Amino acid sequence: MIRKAIFPRCYIQGEHIIRNFGGIREIEKKRVFVLATQSALKKIIPINLPAWEDICEIKYEEFKGKCTWNEIDRVLALAKANNYDFVMGLGGGKTIDTARVVAHRLGLKYIAAPTIAATDAPTASACVIYDIGGAVVDYFTTNNPDYVLVDTRIIADAPVRFLVSGMGDALATRFEAETCYLSYFKNICGGFNLRAIMAIAHTCYRTLLEYGKTAKISCENHLVSPALEYVIEANTLLSGLGFESGGLSTPHGIHDCLCNLEGTHDFYHGEKVAFGTLAGLFFENRPQSLIDEVYSFCSSVGLPTTLVQIGLADVTDEELKAAIHPVFENRESYLHNVRCELTPERIVEAIRMADSVGREKGYV
Ligand SMILES: [Zn+2]
Repeated sequence: MIRKAIFPRCYIQGEHIIRNFGGIREIEKKRVFVLATQSALKKIIPINLPAWEDICEIKYEEFKGKCTWNEIDRVLALAKANNYDFVMGLGGGKTIDTARVVAHRLGLKYIAAPTIAATDAPTASACVIYDIGGAVVDYFTTNNPDYVLVDTRIIADAPVRFLVSGMGDALATRFEAETCYLSYFKNICGGFNLRAIMAIAHTCYRTLLEYGKTAKISCENHLVSPALEYVIEANTLLSGLGFESGGLSTPHGIHDCLCNLEGTHDFYHGEKVAFGTLAGLFFENRPQSLIDEVYSFCSSVGLPTTLVQIGLADVTDEELKAAIHPVFENRESYLHNVRCELTPERIVEAIRMADSVGREKGYV
């Protein structure tokens, strides 16, 4: 039995750490290429550039909004021009993924510096490549980042919906890792789960339950409290290690199905994953006490628990089946990592159960 886990080389989290790159020694006097979102160019770079220029030689470029092969080639050409030592991605998941592929292609060291805690992409080795219309065209695997720099001040100042969505993505971690561990489904890095990762997945879950609500209030008021720090760590590091080395199952599988329905397109990844997690509880016959615990958590932080809350007020069973079909037909999909006999009808049933319980609890 081959058990396997992969990790970033160094994870640094704290308030204002971006100002000196978290104190990374090996960046001193080196050449650094920063790929940044428009918002980071406006709000983060101007106030940090003087301090950065005291540490290293720095050039920056705006990320054009989509992680496509065209965008990767454009940034690659710029980053090739100047013998850089480091590439840093400063932004959300797509900026980070684009910079990650560029660093990998050029054989440079890579720093992931997320400006939101909406997904667990920053710690990962896998990148999702899209076409210009937003459909997934490729998964590309690199190394995990050399450094992950998470500035809690930047996250506290970002819109709270990102943090809540990140909690939705992190919520799935325990359930997906548990399913993969108990049923010997391989994780994303191609091995079976280590007990270390199971401990991480459970800590991720407990952190959300214990500190999620307080962290949300903290972020709404732009305060870097310990609760917010714990949840940022859960959303970014614990969930990141958990999904890549713990595996994915129904929550992300149902997320992929939901993405095929236009009504859900304005909703974030973690919001749809949270609903997929609820549906997964019914596949796996989880006990009532656990179901109540997860619903109550979702409702306390504002994650969706009904179809109305993910833009699917009037969705029919036929429409659900049509959305499930392409994911179900893909035998490689993690939708199939489930401890029961799976049919499209059972998936519809689980989605309807999740919605019915949400409505019954009055979370409309
Ligand atoms: Zn995810």
